[in-house]
Formats: sequence, C-alpha cells, structure tokens
Amino acid sequence: MQFHKNFNLKNYNTFGIEAHCSTFVEVQSIEDVCQVLSQNTLPLFLLGGGSNVLFLNEFYDMLFLKNGIKGIEIIQDTEGGTIVEIGGGVVWHEFVLWAIENNLGGVENMSLIPGTVGAAPIQNIGAYGVELKDVFEKLDAINLQTLDIQTFTKEDCQFGYRDSVFKNELKGQFLITKVYLRLRKNSSKLNTSYGDILKVFIEKKIEQPTIRDVSNAVIAIRQSKLPDPLVIGNAGSFFKNPTIPKAQFEVLKEKHPNIIGYPNNTDGVKVAAGWLIEQCGWKGKKQGHVGVHERQALVLVNYGGGKGLEIKALAQKIQTSVLEKFGIELTPEVNFV
Ligand SMILES: Cc1cc2nc3c(=O)[nH]c(=O)nc-3n(C[C@H](O)[C@H](O)[C@H](O)COP(=O)(O)OP(=O)(O)OC[C@H]3O[C@@H](n4cnc5c(N)ncnc54)[C@H](O)[C@@H]3O)c2cc1C
Repeated sequence: MQFHKNFNLKNYNTFGIEAHCSTFVEVQSIEDVCQVLSQNTLPLFLLGGGSNVLFLNEFYDMLFLKNGIKGIEIIQDTEGGTIVEIGGGVVWHEFVLWAIENNLGGVENMSLIPGTVGAAPIQNIGAYGVELKDVFEKLDAINLQTLDIQTFTKEDCQFGYRDSVFKNELKGQFLITKVYLRLRKNSSKLNTSYGDILKVFIEKKIEQPTIRDVSNAVIAIRQSKLPDPLVIGNAGSFFKNPTIPKAQFEVLKEKHPNIIGYPNNTDGVKVAAGWLIEQCGWKGKKQGHVGVHERQALVLVNYGGGKGLEIKALAQKIQTSVLEKFGIELTPEVNFV
C-alpha cells in the first residue's frame, strides 16, 4: 500500500474539481482496510470512482481511502438464480460486461453507470426501469469504529429511490467490501419497456433481443444523451426527481399541461426534475466555469477550472427558481464533501 501526501483529487472525481487531501491510500483487501484504519488518526472519507461527489473545499486535512477491493466470483448456482460475489472496488460497468459475457441477466439495463460496485448500494443505483435492489442479495461491510465485518440483507439496507440506510442513519459508518447479487440464468426475461430501448431494437431490426442487445441499446442511448465526464466534468443527474402528492400534480398539470410525471406505488407522482429546470430557463446556461448541460438540464457541468462552491451556488439558484415557479423542492442526488 502506498500512502500519498498532499494528493490531488482532480482525476478522482468526475466533476474534475481540483482539490487536495492530506493523505490518500488505495486499499486492495479487507486486511489493508483494517491495517490502515487501526493506525489512522485523521478524519476519513471513503472514495469509490468519485462519480457522485462534489468537493466543496480546496484542501481536506483528511485520509481519503479509495476502495480497490477486486474479484468477481459465482458462489451459488441454482434454478432460483446465480449468486455472484463482487469486490467493492470493481468498476460497476466492468461487472455488467462480465455478467453479459457469462449470460447472466438482471443488470444489463444499468450498463455504463459510472463508479464502483461498493458504492452502488449507497444510493441504490438505477437506470432504464431497473434498480440495484431488484437483483440485490446482501452485502458485507466493515464497521469503521470496531473494524468488525457485518452482513446487511436487502431489508437492512432500507433501499429507496436513490437512497439507502447508508445515506441516512449509517452515513459514513461502514465501508462496503463485498456485494452479492442474484442474477438470472434465464436471460430471456428482459426489461425493455423503459425509455428508447424498444426504439433502438426497431431501428436495428432486432426481433429477439438478448441481454447483450439491451446493454448495447442502453450504452448507445446513454452516450447520445449524457456528457462524458472525460470530456466535460459532471456527476450525472445532480438532483433527484421529486415526488409530490397527486393533488399537487393535478393542479400543476392544469397550469402546465406538458409537465412530465409518473405515478408511483404510493399516492404520489414522481416529476421529471430535468423538465422543471428546463422550464425555469436553465438548460444550456453557463455561469463562469460551470453550467447546466445543453442537452440535459438535470446535469450540472464543470467546463474546466470550476470550483465545487461555484457548482453548489448554481445548484442553489436552480433550486430557488424551481421552488418559486412550481412550489417543488429539489434535493441533490450528489454527495457534498
Ligand atoms: C455520467 C454519469 C452518469 C450517471 N448515471 C447514473 C445513473 O444512471 N443511475 C445512478 O443511479 N447513478 C448515476 N450516476 C451516479 C454514480 O454513477 C453512482 O452514484 C455511483 O454508484 C457512484 O459510485 P462511485 O464509486 O463513483 O462513488 P463515489 O462518488 O466515490 O462515492 C459516492 C458516495 O458513496 C460513498 N462510498 C463510496 N464507496 C463506498 C464504499 N465502498 N463503502 C461505503 N461508502 C462508499 C462515498 O463516501 C460517497 O458518499 C452517474 C454519474 C455520472 C458521472
């Protein structure tokens, strides 16, 4: 293990924000984690791929611990499904490609989501009609106080829309070392009803799609819609899609007939935050080094040289205008550090 002093985090966050930490280390195993933590006296920050964080400070007198725990292994293979154990430091999309290669279904709709497997449960990642919780079996995590390893079931994780117990009561208390997912051997059961997946199949004349076809379609759609963080710094959707009471949605719909909303299981309606932001005139707006992406109003971007506080200030202006125009409060999906 190599400890780096005064380490530049610019290439370790997809916003590309320039920030330094006093100490940085990448761990490869649970033993590494225990060794580092038993000697550490600094405040700790757990880093995965840095694709859902916004660094507000220019310097952190902290230990940044990057999860590099690797490994993908099938540990149970029955008619009911194939349970796969994945190291928390594995890159999520590399795992998705592994699953497709092994003809295991369930995660293909979540192709190309940046970040690590260990961070996936934190906000219950999801895309194109599928969420991590749909394939989740359990996870192992190290208690950062006692260094004991604890197993969390799906119920323990309290998954919600871009939410889990690790963003709430247990925030900052556990390092997720391994995630166990239950994948389908019968890969013919596909979820193609969301977004433009079917449109891609029609265009490409694919009549009997496979999980690989779904993955390829999702990759193509994402690449056409979302800015690549290697080109323009961003962290994907900056805000969550807010859920509002049905009655409030009906009132808004009378005034704004084009408002986009999806009824959810409870008596609420999930409103497309991107639409709300666009209606407030923010799409494509630039403020200094930062701005709102020209094709995706939900994505805030760093055009280069932007600071975390600039992005936060822009986010606050957007929140204020959405609240004033629609009476809806937007909550950031991105984690402020
Ligand atoms: C272009 C783009 C598109 C995106 N699209 C989507 C999408 O479609 N759906 C979606 O859900 N998300 C999306 N995201 C957000 C992001 O990819 C996910 O939130 C991802 O899970 C973050 O993983 P990470 O490893 O980068 O986490 P980081 O950003 O490094 O960390 C995120 C949080 O998790 C904590 N954390 C990280 N690893 C661990 C661990 N092992 N144990 C405990 N805590 C940990 C960190 O302390 C931090 O609070 C997108 C991001 C980008 C840049």
